[in-house]
Amino acid sequence: MKIIKNLGLVIFITGLAIWTASIFMGDFTLQQEQLDSFISEKGIKSELVAQKISDNVVGKKLGTFAFTGAVRDALAQNNDYYDAQIAKYDAAKEWDKKGEQYQYRINDKDFQAFSFSLAKKAGTGFIVENKGLMWFLTFGLGILGALMFIFPNLVLLGKPGIKNDHVYHEAATNRGWIAWLVLVYLVLFYLVLYFNADYVVNWTFILDPISNALNGGDASQWFVYGFLYCVIMITMAVRMYIKYRHNKYQIVRTTSVLFFQIVFAFLIPEIMASLGKPGYDFKNAFPLDYDFFFEWNLQSLTESGGLGIFILVWGVVLTLVIVPVMVYFFGKRWYCSWVCGCGGLAETLGDPYRQHSNKSMKAWKLERWLIHSVLVFSLVMTLVTLYCYFTGAEAFLGINSQWIKDTYSFLIGAWFAGVIGTGFYPIFGNRVWCRFGCPLAAYLGFVQRFKSRFRITTNGGQCISCGNCSTYCEQGIDVRAYAQKGENIVRSSCVGCGVCSAVCPRGVLKLENGPEAGRINPTQVLLGNDVDLMDYVNNKEAS
Ligand code: SF4
Ligand code: SF4
Repeated sequence: MKIIKNLGLVIFITGLAIWTASIFMGDFTLQQEQLDSFISEKGIKSELVAQKISDNVVGKKLGTFAFTGAVRDALAQNNDYYDAQIAKYDAAKEWDKKGEQYQYRINDKDFQAFSFSLAKKAGTGFIVENKGLMWFLTFGLGILGALMFIFPNLVLLGKPGIKNDHVYHEAATNRGWIAWLVLVYLVLFYLVLYFNADYVVNWTFILDPISNALNGGDASQWFVYGFLYCVIMITMAVRMYIKYRHNKYQIVRTTSVLFFQIVFAFLIPEIMASLGKPGYDFKNAFPLDYDFFFEWNLQSLTESGGLGIFILVWGVVLTLVIVPVMVYFFGKRWYCSWVCGCGGLAETLGDPYRQHSNKSMKAWKLERWLIHSVLVFSLVMTLVTLYCYFTGAEAFLGINSQWIKDTYSFLIGAWFAGVIGTGFYPIFGNRVWCRFGCPLAAYLGFVQRFKSRFRITTNGGQCISCGNCSTYCEQGIDVRAYAQKGENIVRSSCVGCGVCSAVCPRGVLKLENGPEAGRINPTQVLLGNDVDLMDYVNNKEAS
């Protein structure tokens, strides 16, 4: 079994190495007609940029970085020229001429998208000609290797029951060198995906056939991300099924997040796009779906007829009615641990790192400050955006609408949720984003803390203070401290993953949604001589 496991590891690393090396493979040769059609499709007014690309790129056989570098240089030279023109007309106080120059500049934020689109047209060589083979050598080997590594656990882990033996003795799970390597790889992956997608255009060629079958178009970097996300979740879900095979709650919960990710977050939006409709993830609630009220989205939805209006109404009802009502009955777990894509990745890919959540009071304090600040940030941004959308103004209360949207998208949408939120799993634990950054989690947490049936009851008398529950709580809750006091856990950050209960050797912890009537106050420490416990039992039975 160990041989199969080791062989699986080698195959997986080979697949990953080919996937990484594929960035550098293949050639890019742009034809003049391709450039001309691109310039007219995009409505680019600057002749200079077309000329520069024509001189430096067209007809040449270039590698990935030479190609994207040359295109970006051409865009930069174009902007430098027009910036000089703007400065010149500004000095001469020729305002009309100065104003005219702006239309010829290319927005600096669009450089990577510009270069990506051209690279997509210009790709030639091994990857473009062997997409199926490349899929097998990357995804195929990766999946095969990972499954060969995971399946022997059925035997190696022995009888059903959670075995976390050796987690603090292995470099992959004890913040050792393997964990740091994984962190570096994940962080680089997100940096490239968000900010330099043109460098990884070869990845999109590999998935073009699947993208074409699903939505009728070639793959973008977001298609690659969505597909990869599903593949990783499915593969790591197999690991969850084996590890938690005695625990029905974990099996059903894992199946649920898989279903919502594959069907709602991936397939439905792709199919909608293939039908010319706005691709929408029906489970993605605002403010996690932070651009739901952005002008471009409101405009696209209002122009998409009945379906667009339905999505608009659904999005509002989901956030204002469905989310809080469901949290009242089931706690925030219904979303964070059963439905959400971020939670789904955290619970599958991130499961080996759940022990790294910081349990200190300082971390708890930081968590409350950060997560509520992000919630306020997202609400202020939305308020400014809506005000400007309906009035046509550019700013509200002195806050520029475009600036605040860009800032939120960059800091929270890209850096916090992606680069840090997932990249830092191996060191900070698997719920960094959910615990410290997600504005929806903050909203759900309010409802859970102050008006919800959900709680974790603790049978304190049985607790042997082993600390397993606290160690494996991904949200940094010191579960043992509550268990020792026999106190119910009603914490806004608890995502109801149920792992504290699953790892408890004494059956102390129970996740419950029972009626509120007849409950013992969760913040009271009850002793037998303070209260007649039989009264509570009888009252509860009567209610
Ligand atoms: S307290 Fe238990 S159920 Fe809640 S997040 Fe922590 S481990 Fe999961
Ligand atoms: S895992 Fe169970 S026995 Fe161990 S400290 Fe937590 S509640 Fe107590």
